[in-house]
Amino acid sequence: MERTLAIKRAAKYGFCSGVRVADIKVKRFARQGGRGAILGQVVHNERVVEEMEQLGVRTVQALEDVHEPVIVFSAHGVPPSFHQRARQLGLEILDTTCKFVYDIHKEAQRALTEGAHLVFIGHPGHREVIGYTHDLDPTCYHVISTLEQARQVDWSAYPAIRVLYQTTLNAEEYEDVVRHIETAQPNTRRADTICYATKENQDAARVLASDPEVQLILVVGGKHSANTRHLWEICKVNKPSYLIQGADDLDPSWILNVSCVGLTAGASTPDYVLAEVEQRLVELASRQGKAQAP
Ligand code: SF4
Repeated sequence: MERTLAIKRAAKYGFCSGVRVADIKVKRFARQGGRGAILGQVVHNERVVEEMEQLGVRTVQALEDVHEPVIVFSAHGVPPSFHQRARQLGLEILDTTCKFVYDIHKEAQRALTEGAHLVFIGHPGHREVIGYTHDLDPTCYHVISTLEQARQVDWSAYPAIRVLYQTTLNAEEYEDVVRHIETAQPNTRRADTICYATKENQDAARVLASDPEVQLILVVGGKHSANTRHLWEICKVNKPSYLIQGADDLDPSWILNVSCVGLTAGASTPDYVLAEVEQRLVELASRQGKAQAP
């Protein structure tokens, strides 16, 4: 019996422009014989990190660990002081920081000059947020991710507040947090810092999850990728959904009795990883068809 499995990709998925540029810059550098190390993962995807290591560009966790002549700063960006420190250590810098991340650094500086208190909606341990906050006086900002945290601060004590979002967040999830701050201090302005690439991937994931033909959704991406996890959270509201890093994570039982699988991928997932997942799905479905044949 022929077993057919339709696979529908989201209209938008995978590498965003910032990650695509970072990937190209580092690969070009490595192929030209450059010797360098990347501070933290170039993007939050283990396959990309492995690929970079195979090209001879290893990942380090601190500037002091770099023995190569060049340090690569990832698409998430770094605190401005890291540029100075790298130069003091005699390192050349290959900066792949995304343009949109730099826009937020600038917006934060502008807001501080205007006398506003900064509220970063995001995760304090995320490299992007560390990039924004590391060099700031701790009294001039908060990093908030829950309503409970927002309730613990007297926002009315600040004459003006600027809200900035970590680029890869789903803004809707934090609406109650921001509303709480705005109610406590009406002189609050939101900076529109959610990255369009993230939003487009999220909107497309929503459409995929509401497609009546799609019975199951696979979200492909790195296990430390915040935007991949958000895609999975969006999808699982409507459909059984699994977050996988690649084809090897596929469980054949997921597609038993399934005729249409939806596929999407985080902003740091290379296209070839998604293609491998698609290929493996076709193979699994074919094997299941043969096993069911009379
Ligand atoms: S998700 Fe957006 S902000 Fe982040 S690297 Fe990609 S394009 Fe830049």
